[in-house]
Amino acid sequence: EQGQQDCGELPANIPEEYYRIAGFPDYLELSKQAELFAQLQIANPYFRVNEAIINNKTSIDGREYISYSSYNYLGFSGDERVTQAANEAAKRYGTSVSASRGATGEKPIHGELEAELASLIGVEDCVVYVGGHSANVSTLGCLLRPRDLVVCDALSHNSIIQGCILSGARRILFPHNNWEALEAILKQNRRNYERTLIVVEGVYSMDGDIARLPQFVDLKKRYKALLMVDEAHSMGILGRSGRGIGEYFGLDPRDVDVWMGTLSKTFASCGGYIAGSKELVQLLKYSAGGFVYSVGITPANAGAALAVARLLRSETGRVARLQNNARFFLEFAQANGLDTGLSKDSAVVPVIIRDSLKSIKLANALFQHGINVHPIFYPVVADGEARLRFFITSDHTEDQIRFTIETMKELRNKLVP
Ligand code: PMP
Repeated sequence: EQGQQDCGELPANIPEEYYRIAGFPDYLELSKQAELFAQLQIANPYFRVNEAIINNKTSIDGREYISYSSYNYLGFSGDERVTQAANEAAKRYGTSVSASRGATGEKPIHGELEAELASLIGVEDCVVYVGGHSANVSTLGCLLRPRDLVVCDALSHNSIIQGCILSGARRILFPHNNWEALEAILKQNRRNYERTLIVVEGVYSMDGDIARLPQFVDLKKRYKALLMVDEAHSMGILGRSGRGIGEYFGLDPRDVDVWMGTLSKTFASCGGYIAGSKELVQLLKYSAGGFVYSVGITPANAGAALAVARLLRSETGRVARLQNNARFFLEFAQANGLDTGLSKDSAVVPVIIRDSLKSIKLANALFQHGINVHPIFYPVVADGEARLRFFITSDHTEDQIRFTIETMKELRNKLVP
């Protein structure tokens, strides 16, 4: 009998939450959220099934909605040429590369994609991972050790924080975008550590504001640190030709040691990249766990991203349309008395509601009016900072934007006393 076996020093009263998933406090928290939605008679906004390609529109339960909830910034997911490139790559190389690239998974299309991305960014080389999240986690885990210091913006993405934890390096967060505070941290701590890495994001995904990159470059040079920039929401969006935050500020791309980006947004695919010096890329290709011990990116994903990287050079009109739409959305929202927080010059525009419940109710009311946008509330953002987050695309029309903002203003006035 299992129950009667001698388990030595094991205490008799080990709480259930230590060995039953249904008893985990995090699981019980989730149940509370489900109860809240039921109480409010609001459909759960998560895991809604979108039945077709999402660009400025989506289809849910057979109904069409204006969509602000996808990262298809330049509308390349669904573009015939990109789909064809994915199909051709799958036909030629298979649906999986069936091994890690260091073993037998290396295909010509991997190198072609990496060379194209490196050239687009203006650096020597690039390596592509199967995910943007894993690119951050593995790269940070590989570049830093417990004797090192990593200083990240307080609003850093989960993948950055996870990578820092994996590395075992000392981690200090500096107040959002505050380079003076970062300098104070470097002044006090730099000498106590070996490598020091500063991590920022091109565009912050909850607020839509842009890192003050020239100041961070200056600090990294003066304090002999390394600098990493996550361009998930800035590549394809910032700069005259969409080449990201470096182009936006007119910086030399070699002033950033580690350029990170994802293939899931502008590049209409799935995967992540790290670009920089040939030594950086060589090191990661032989040492980053998420690359060495994981399968190579699929041919279809590589093919789609490669097609977009090439199209980006010729179709700068899309970038201009995206930037115009984002500017129009921001200005029209502000003119209608909505609080857009810190957003500026990016394609992420939050409308700050503050109260979590109100943000959930407003998103639900908008959904009933044919507008799909997600509420973001505690714990994803700080308590009292709840918001609706709008991702603008090059395909949105002025009419859609006007309708959205006017509807939101009306509904918000009804909800908020
Ligand atoms: N970095 C940032 C700033 C992100 O917003 C995201 C995802 N939204 C990622 C990394 C991860 O990218 P992916 O979803 O392609 O894995």
